[in-house]
Order: sequence, then C-alpha cells, then structure tokens
Amino acid sequence: MGLRPRPAQGNRPREDWRNQLSDSDQHTPRKPSTRVVEAGRRPEWTGAAVNPPVWRASTHLYTDAKDLAGGRPNADGHFYYGRRGAPTQWALAEALTELEPGAAGTVLYPSGVAAIANVLLAVLKPGDVLLVTDNAYEPTRNIALGMLKQYDIEARPFDPLDLTSFENAFCERTRAVMLESPGSLTMEVCDIPQLAAIAREKGAVSILDNTWASSLGFPALERGCDISIMSLTKHVGGHSDLMMGSASAGEEWYTKLRLASQYMGQVVSPDDAALALRGLRTMALRLEHSTQAALEIARWLQGRPEVAHVLCPMLDGAPGNALWQRDFTGGCGLFSIVLKGRSVSQRARFLDALELFGLGYSWGGFESLAIPFDPARTRSEMAWPPASWDAEDRLGVRFSIGLEDVADLLSDIGQALDAMED
Ligand SMILES: *Cc1c(COP(=O)(O)O)cnc(C)c1O
Repeated sequence: MGLRPRPAQGNRPREDWRNQLSDSDQHTPRKPSTRVVEAGRRPEWTGAAVNPPVWRASTHLYTDAKDLAGGRPNADGHFYYGRRGAPTQWALAEALTELEPGAAGTVLYPSGVAAIANVLLAVLKPGDVLLVTDNAYEPTRNIALGMLKQYDIEARPFDPLDLTSFENAFCERTRAVMLESPGSLTMEVCDIPQLAAIAREKGAVSILDNTWASSLGFPALERGCDISIMSLTKHVGGHSDLMMGSASAGEEWYTKLRLASQYMGQVVSPDDAALALRGLRTMALRLEHSTQAALEIARWLQGRPEVAHVLCPMLDGAPGNALWQRDFTGGCGLFSIVLKGRSVSQRARFLDALELFGLGYSWGGFESLAIPFDPARTRSEMAWPPASWDAEDRLGVRFSIGLEDVADLLSDIGQALDAMED
C-alpha cells in the first residue's frame, strides 16, 4: 500500500508547502528537522491529536448499496479495504514522500527485506539481468543470486568502485541495477550519481538501498536514482521495536510499485505505522547525535594499536570520505573496524567484554550494538581483505552507536580491547 501526497499540513493548515519549498525567492526552504516534525500531519487524519492516531480497520464501511456499487476510486487516501491502508499508514507514507525530494509517492512493506524483494519483483521479468553491487546487504544478495533465478532472472555482482567495469557489465538484457552506499559492513562509498547516470543512459532502472543515510542524509532521487528503499526498522523506527520498509519513487515507478504491492498483498499494521511516525519525529535529532558520537569514537579507535582499519566514511581522509562529503547531507552512527591481526577467539573475548553494546543484528536504535563480520564469504568481485592491506587484518566488528554518553561508550570499548588481550 502506498500514498502520494496532497498539500501537507503542519500545526495549522496552510498553502502547499511543497510549492513553497521550490520557490525559495519568496520563502525560506524548510530544513529536514522541521520537515520531520510536520510531515504527514493532515488535520483530516489527526483531528485535534498531534500525531496521527492509530486507525485499526480491516473493513471500511460503505454508506449504502449505491456507494458500494459505485466503486470508490482505488486511489490514495480513499477508504476501500484494510489492505489499502487507513490514515495512520497513509500519514507515514506521505511523511516519507515529503522527506524524499522528487518522490511522487511511497509504498510501505512489512520489512526492509520485503521492500527490496517486492521492488525487485515489480521491476524485473523473466530473461532480465540485474546488476547487484558486490557489497550489498546479504539478504539482498541472497534474493538476487538465489530466489530470482527461479524466475529466470540473472543477477550479476559488480564492483561499485570500478565505474569502467560497471559500464562494461551492461548487456541488452540488463533491466535494473541494485545499489547500496555505503556498502553493508565494509562501508565503501560509491559514486551513486555516476552509477545512476550510467544506468539511465543504458536504459536500466536504478534502485538504491538508502537505509544507512536515509532520505535526510542522501536525497536519492535527486541524485539520479529511480527508486529509493529504506529499512524503516533502523533509523525511522529508531527504538528497536518495529520492522518495516519503504520504497519511494517518482510518478512512473510509484504507480508500478503501488500496483505490485497490491497484487502481493503488502500491508503494514497501523500500530507499527504509528510507532514509525513517532520515531520519525526525532529522527533528525537522533541522526545528528549518533553521527557526532560515531565520529568521536571512530577517531579514538584510529589511535588504538589493536585496530588496523576504521571503516567510517564520515572520517576526514578515510576511504570514501571525498564522495561522502560531496554527495551526502548527513551521516549516522553505523561504522566498522578491522582488528590488527588477532584471532576469532580474541574477537569473541572483545565482544563478550563489552557491557554497553548489545550483541545483535540491526542498528539505528537508541541503544549501541556490535556484531562481528567476515565479508569474504559475501564478496565475489571485491577482494577481502583489500590487496593493499596486510592479509592477516581481516576480522571485522561493526558498531551501531546509540544515544548513550560518548565517554561511557569509549571507556567500555577501551576496557573490552584490554580484555581481548588477556
Ligand atoms: C537491515 C537492513 C535491511 C533490511 O531491513 P529489515 O527491516 O531488517 O528487513 C536492508 N538493507 C540494509 C542496508 C539493512 O541494514
């Protein structure tokens, strides 16, 4: 289910602010932190309540037989049947559309992976070739290289840092390109505007998994992508208590994704949509905090002898930093390190000694997390460890920095690094 926007309202009804945004001579464009507060709050959905209330409904009633027979338009924002959503889900979809410049609408899915799978199935048909970035989120890679095969769709991984081989990878049958930046776990930033421009020139659809930066940190459609996907489970939810995904796109692809999601019965619960809306209101603030905290911790880790590499493109001079500076408008608290040598059991000692970092998948919540990773298994085009590194430096740890005090987090990591050596 999805929704395209109508004039949005903030605390009070007013003119269509989307037009105001594009008319900067007359009005100051509203900043992202203002927009996350206002987005999706139409008075007809919220009533006197500030945040859209939870509309639980599978059945939407019609007034009489004529109303029923007349056929309500299968259009956004019309009561029809629960699977098409109700104001809580509509408000979330509309808010996400407002935050993604260039989007005509947003479709919601029950998880980020569901968003990726449904978008790929909506875009691809038998006989097509999909180019998939080699550092994609592992389930993306699994869908692309595994499940799509049964539909006679061929996925080919490519090195996102090598534009020439990317360009050469296209063939007559290449229908779509699946991008992600920074790459999962290893954090390489690729030149999305260039990759998307090449894809467009070759007649392929570019799909970006924009979960790391979110639309606040990387306006994907403005940078040339056709479809921008987020796992809302991460930054938007922000409290590690819901799962959801989204895909935002311009008119042509929004219309197709919306129809495909109806065919596939994709719907999200109004309770989760309300939680996601609640999370969204503080997202700009949380991202700002986690970005600063992650930078401080990443810098500190650079000075530690136990750490061979800090994979954090937000750090000055780090791999990917130039592109990050050029293309991104914000960061987040997710980055990785690679230990200097060390054994798997030493890394396990480090992880076990952490007190403030939970060990668990996911990220983007208010609490800090850590996981070990060894990307060799999920890379076929990019070498791991990279050729320029000492070969024994290969054991990774990914951190998601939450909202705890930075000094406390630093001292926790410090004591865990000490414990690793015991
Ligand atoms: C977590 C994640 C997803 C999947 O989202 P879920 O909501 O967990 O299904 C997709 N892409 C990236 C980069 C992720 O980190």
